[in-house]
Order: sequence, then C-alpha cells, then structure tokens
Amino acid sequence: MARVIVVGAGLAGLASAVRLAKLGHQVTICERDERLGGVLGRIEADGFSWDAGAASTTLPAALRDLFRKSGRPIESLVQLEPVTEPRRHMFADGSVLDLPITDRGEQLQAWSDLAGEKTAQQWVSLVDGYGETWQVLRKTSLEPPLKDKLPLGAVRTLKPWQSLERVAQRQLDDDRARAVLRHYAAQGGSDAKLTPGYVGVWSYLERTFGRWTIDGGFGALADALAQRASERKVDVRTGAEVVAVTTSDGGVTGVRLADGTELPADIVVSDIDPRELYGQLVDDPAAKKVRKQIEATHQAQAAYVVHLGLQEPLPTLPFETVLHGTPTVVVRAGGQAPAGHQAWSVLVHGYPTDDVLDLLVARGLHIRDKVVSRQTSPSWWAGVAWEGYRTARRRAANVSPIKGLYCVGAGAHPGSGVPATTLGAAIVADAVGKA
Ligand SMILES: Cc1cc2nc3c(=O)[nH]c(=O)nc-3n(C[C@H](O)[C@H](O)[C@H](O)COP(=O)(O)OP(=O)(O)OC[C@H]3O[C@@H](n4cnc5c(N)ncnc54)[C@H](O)[C@@H]3O)c2cc1C
Repeated sequence: MARVIVVGAGLAGLASAVRLAKLGHQVTICERDERLGGVLGRIEADGFSWDAGAASTTLPAALRDLFRKSGRPIESLVQLEPVTEPRRHMFADGSVLDLPITDRGEQLQAWSDLAGEKTAQQWVSLVDGYGETWQVLRKTSLEPPLKDKLPLGAVRTLKPWQSLERVAQRQLDDDRARAVLRHYAAQGGSDAKLTPGYVGVWSYLERTFGRWTIDGGFGALADALAQRASERKVDVRTGAEVVAVTTSDGGVTGVRLADGTELPADIVVSDIDPRELYGQLVDDPAAKKVRKQIEATHQAQAAYVVHLGLQEPLPTLPFETVLHGTPTVVVRAGGQAPAGHQAWSVLVHGYPTDDVLDLLVARGLHIRDKVVSRQTSPSWWAGVAWEGYRTARRRAANVSPIKGLYCVGAGAHPGSGVPATTLGAAIVADAVGKA
C-alpha cells in the first residue's frame, strides 16, 4: 500500500483519488479551496442556479467506468441524462442550423436543408472518417499513457501535421460547415490553425456516444465524487494549499502545505497547472528537462463567462446555441430557474470587446430588458493551448520523470474537458496499479 497525496480536487484529482483508494492505497487529497470540484460546480443567486463550468459531456463511458472502478455504478449516486435536442448554430449571414447530436441521417438532412446535398455529404463523410481516428487515439494515447513514438500506421491515420483549419478548407466547401468544425478548437480555447485536425474527432464521439448532462448539474457530479471519496475513506483536506512537492534522489517524498505542515508520501498526483507544479512546486534536478518543455506551453484562452437570470417571455433556445462570429458566443440554456424564468450561461470565446448583452443583441437575441440577475464567473485555468501538433508532447505527461510523481487534469495528457480529464485519471490509476 502506497501513501498517495492528490494535489487539487478538480474532476481529475477526485477521479484519481477514488480510483487509487479502491486499488487499496492510502489516499489524502489536499485542496486549497474550501469546496471540492474545481471548475465543476454551481453558481447560485437570486433563486437561479447555473453550472459554473462543464454543462454537458460526451463519452459517458469515461464517467461510468470511473464510478464502476471506484465502487458502485454512477446511477447509485447521480443520473446521466441524454441530450435529445439539437445544438443550434447561428451564422453571421443570419442562417440557422439545428444540428441533431446523435443521428447520422438527421445530420445529413439538417445540412442538406441548410446548404444542399453536397455540403451534407461532405459533413457526414468527414465525421465518418473520424471513426478510424478515434480507434487509433483510443489505443495509442487515451487508454494507455502517450507512447514516446506512435506506430507509423497510427501517424498516417492521425496526420498530426494537418491543422483543423486545413481539414476544414480541404474537406468542406461551405463556410458555415467550416465554422462548425472550427468550433471544436475554439471551445477548448485554441485556434483552429494551430490545432491538429484529429481534434475534430469530438464530432464523431458526440454523434456516436451522444451528449449527456447530469441531473442537478455538474455540481452534483462533484458532490457524488466527494461522497465516493468519503466512502473510500480518502482523507480530504480543504483549505490546504500545497506550496512544495518534496523530493529526494529524483523521487517524491511528500508535500509541504502553506501553513508549513509536511505530509510524507510515496506517490503525489498533481491536478494543478503543470507550469505551476514544475515551475514553483518541484525543485529537483530530474525535473529540469520537463520544466523547460512545459514552460514552452501557453495557457488556452479561457472563455469569459456570464450567468444570466432572465424573465419570460424569451426565445426558446436548445441546450446550447453557438453564435458564430468574432468572438464566438455560446449560450447554454440549461440552468435552473424559478417559474416564469430561465437561467442562461453565456460563454465568450475570444476577446470580448463589447459587453455580453451587446454581443447577444447584435446577434439577434434581444434580452436586455429581461435580465433580473447577472453573475460574472471567475476566470478558470482552461488547460494548454494547441500550438501545433508538438503540443501533445509538450504538455505534462501523466507519468513524470520524477519517481512517484504523476500529472492529471486539464493541463496534462490527454487534455481538458470532462472525458479527457476523466481518462487521464484512469491512465494514472493503471500506471500506479494495485496496492
Ligand atoms: C466555463 C467552462 C465551461 C466548460 N464546459 C465544459 C463542458 O461543457 N464540457 C466539458 O467536457 N468540459 C467543459 N469544461 C472543461 C472541464 O470542466 C475541465 O476541463 C475540467 O473540469 C477540469 O478539471 P481539472 O481537474 O483538470 O481542473 P480544476 O477543476 O481546475 O481543478 C484543479 C483544482 O486544484 C486546486 N488547486 C490549484 N492549485 C492548488 C494547490 N497549490 N494546492 C492545492 N490545490 C490546488 C484548485 O483549487 C482546483 O480545485 C469547461 C470549463 C470551463 C472553465
């Protein structure tokens, strides 16, 4: 049995903690905030409740596996609900696409109605093609840790040198279809020109595995993981900021907290920004090379988020509406509101030069006089920006060169988002193994 300290109780930290506890290790979580969940949480004000960060996810198998492998199935604590409405795309030319999430035939029809048969065929062929990409990614880098060298066949399928923008230009003729594909880069805070084309695989995952919300919002998922941690007897310390990961002879020995407490450990799993971990918390010669590599990465551009409580009558929006343009604005309409009201979260991807309400009005959503509550979200750590395909190797590997140190979370392999951070925790639990 190893003594494990998990630094940070975001989704990835909590997922690592409960998996490792189930494998028989003695696990302590050190979280600097007073609450668990990090980006996953709810914002409540004036009778409204909004998801602070994630509001839906694809690849539900990642969450199902997490709960099964840490005790009992997810349904014992929280319910996944399928999104049945299409995602709405509103384009700069005034046209609107309601793109169904899971059905290939319905996607074909929706594109055909908007832009004609040719565009519709191009879109479904592009998404179909990502099926092979998914198989390669799954086998080479989403289930095992990222290998030093990928097999030649995998590289040929992934074509990592080809950017998402290039894929859009080569495989789609219609500007609106290109905008929809580019959004898979923008939603992660990256530029499509600097993002590998294979990132469009999320279009395939969503179509194949659906999109899911959590009954009660993603704050309920954080609560469920906190409960699972308590069932697994994880020692949870809140208000516990880690200021150093202590090492000796190239291996971890524990952590030091801001109040000076030293906690010994055989294994440390970090769920914090790897640039902070390697730049400020770890001072060991074995970290020299990786520090340099991680310092070469940059933070993805976090969305600027405003939560609105609105009085009806209002336009009826589906779970998510993407207002394409500069900047791209996403409206999520799934918050909880008192009768006769709606709760929207507005995410601005890009530099918001105008007030959010001005942006909405300019894109045709005249809701200024409907606002009864307005909450601005704190700015979150959104992971690492794509700066070409080499970013995949520059961001923190799950297994560090320092013995006993592991990295999970939005800044580590395989990247940000609910499915990827959950998969990263599974990779680390497998790498550590049973007690
Ligand atoms: C606005 C927004 C919307 C999003 N929407 C979606 C979505 O719809 N679907 C989706 O799949 N993904 C979405 N995401 C992304 C997803 O929510 C995140 O990638 C994921 O939750 C990140 O989890 P994490 O564990 O990596 O990090 P975090 O949640 O950032 O957790 C890190 C934790 O570490 C703690 N910490 C930091 N430093 C220290 C220290 N020195 N000592 C102790 N503790 C420390 C922090 O307090 C925090 O609790 C969204 C993200 C944002 C910001």
